[in-house]
Amino acid sequence: MIREIKAKSLLRKHKKIDSWFVARYGMNLYRGCLHNCAYCDGRAEGYYVEGEFGKDIDVKINAPELLQKELDPKRKRIPFKKGFIMIGGGVGDSYNVLDKKYELSRKILNIVSDYDFPVHVLTKSTLVKRDIDILHAINQKSKAIISFSFSGVDDNICKIFEPGVPPATERLETISFFKKEGFPVGVFMMPVIPFITDLPDQMENSIRKFKEAGVDFIIFGGMTLKEGRQQDYFYKVLKENYPDLLHQYEMIYKGDKWGGASHQYYESINKLFLELACKYQISKRIPAKLYNQVIDQNDVVAVILDQMDYILKQKGQKSPYGYAAYSVSQLKEPITEHLNKLQNLSGVGPVTEKIILEILETGTSGCYEKLLIT
Ligand code: SF4
Repeated sequence: MIREIKAKSLLRKHKKIDSWFVARYGMNLYRGCLHNCAYCDGRAEGYYVEGEFGKDIDVKINAPELLQKELDPKRKRIPFKKGFIMIGGGVGDSYNVLDKKYELSRKILNIVSDYDFPVHVLTKSTLVKRDIDILHAINQKSKAIISFSFSGVDDNICKIFEPGVPPATERLETISFFKKEGFPVGVFMMPVIPFITDLPDQMENSIRKFKEAGVDFIIFGGMTLKEGRQQDYFYKVLKENYPDLLHQYEMIYKGDKWGGASHQYYESINKLFLELACKYQISKRIPAKLYNQVIDQNDVVAVILDQMDYILKQKGQKSPYGYAAYSVSQLKEPITEHLNKLQNLSGVGPVTEKIILEILETGTSGCYEKLLIT
C-alpha cells in the first residue's frame, strides 16, 4: 500500500559529522522501501516501519516544503553549518521506483542546489541518472558525491536477495557513467552476504569491477541479522535458495542484541577486504580530496581522525584517534584558535597534534593517506 503522509520535519542533524558519509545532515523521503532486499534491517522491529516491509511505503509528500523552510537562513537565528546533506541510507532508498512518479529526490536536489549545500547521494537505483542536470549544478558549485550500494556483482545472486533493485551490472554501468561525467563516485559494499558474496573469488570479482568502473572509494561492511522479522524473512529466502547454508549462518548469528555476527567472522571478512583493497589500491574511506575544500576545518580534522581510528581498528590495531576526533567535533570555535594548545584538547597527544597541524596546513595527512590504501 502506498500512503501519502505529511511529515513534521525532514532534516536529521547529526550531533557530530558522520565520517562514514562525511555528512552533517540526513533525510528519508520515503518510509519503507519497495526494493525489498532480503537482508534489509528496515524489517527489524526496532525501526517501526508500519505494515509489510517491501510492499507498504509512506511517501513524505510535503518533503520539499519542509526542506525549503528548514534550510532557509532567514528563518533561523543561527543558519545551518555548511556540510554534506545525505540523500539515501537509513531504511529507505530515495530513488525507489515511486520516485519516478513523485520526483521527491529531484525537488529536494533543486532546493539543496539553491542553498549551495554539497550533497552525497547513496542509492541502489539507476533512476538517479534522471537528475544528472541538477547534480551537475551542485557538483560545480559545491560537490555531489554519488554512491551505490552492492552486496556483490553477480546478477543472479542479486536477483534473489535484492528483487526490486536494478541488476548489479546496470549499477556498475551507472557508476562508470557518473565517473565519466566528472562526479566523485563510491561504493558501499555492504552488506556482503555470508558464505555467498563474501567468498574470496566473489569479493575479488566485485572489487575488480568497482575498480574498473572508476570508484574513488569502497566502504565495506558485513551483514547484521536481528532476531525477529529481519532474521525470519532472510532465513526464509535462504532456505528457498541456499538451504545447505543455514547451519553455517546459525553458527555465526547467535542472538547478539544488535544482530551482529561472531567476532571471528567479521575479522575474517575484514582481513580479506583489506588485502583486496590494498591489492587494487582503492581507498577504504571517502578520501579527503573529496571533502576538504567543501566542509570547515574542524569537520575535516574530525573526519580524518575518525577514519584513521576506524581503519586501525578494522586492522585489529589500537588507535588513539577516536577520542581526539570527538573532542574536535565538539568545538564551537574554529580549531585554529587552539593552535598553540592543541594538547589541551581531550585525547590529543603529541602524535595527534602533529597530524592535526599537518591537516590544517595541507588539507590531509600523509599518515592518513597511507592508511587509506594499505
Ligand atoms: S535498498 Fe536499502 S533500504 Fe531498500 S530494501 Fe534494500 S537495503 Fe533496505
